[in-house]
Amino acid sequence: MTEPMTDRPAPITLPDVTYRGQRQSDGAGGALISVYDQDGELVGTVAHRAKHSPAGMNWGYAGSGAADCARSLLAHAIGDRHALCPVCQGTDTSGRCESCEAGLLIAPRIYQRFKFTFVAGWATVFTTTRREILGWLTSEFPDADWPGIQAAP
Ligand SMILES: [Zn+2]
Repeated sequence: MTEPMTDRPAPITLPDVTYRGQRQSDGAGGALISVYDQDGELVGTVAHRAKHSPAGMNWGYAGSGAADCARSLLAHAIGDRHALCPVCQGTDTSGRCESCEAGLLIAPRIYQRFKFTFVAGWATVFTTTRREILGWLTSEFPDADWPGIQAAP
């Protein structure tokens, strides 16, 4: 699915944002991750990229809701253009599309490590930033298909 990379593209800079997750209860339903720009304005929410947990995202443990939280957050941080499968446009959550991992170009080894490193330890409310996520991603997985994506200073 991926061409050998002989020439790496120039780094891509995305605006830094802050992610703030809140959940209503211990169940997977009702968990919401809001996105704020650098002025503190609410600019959206993180879409749930379902694979392990159809009921929704969750954190503070290492289960299926946390796995979906990890892949959804990573997808938002690197941006739809890089995260979404170009064949199914990110719509396949059943595993039928052979070009992706349930709609995303993010392998389980990546989002599961993110889950165990961060998501599993988050409290009821958490805050992180695109800069923190991309910094971790590019140092842990320098060989990924999107090595040059960084948050704006
Ligand atoms: Zn696909």
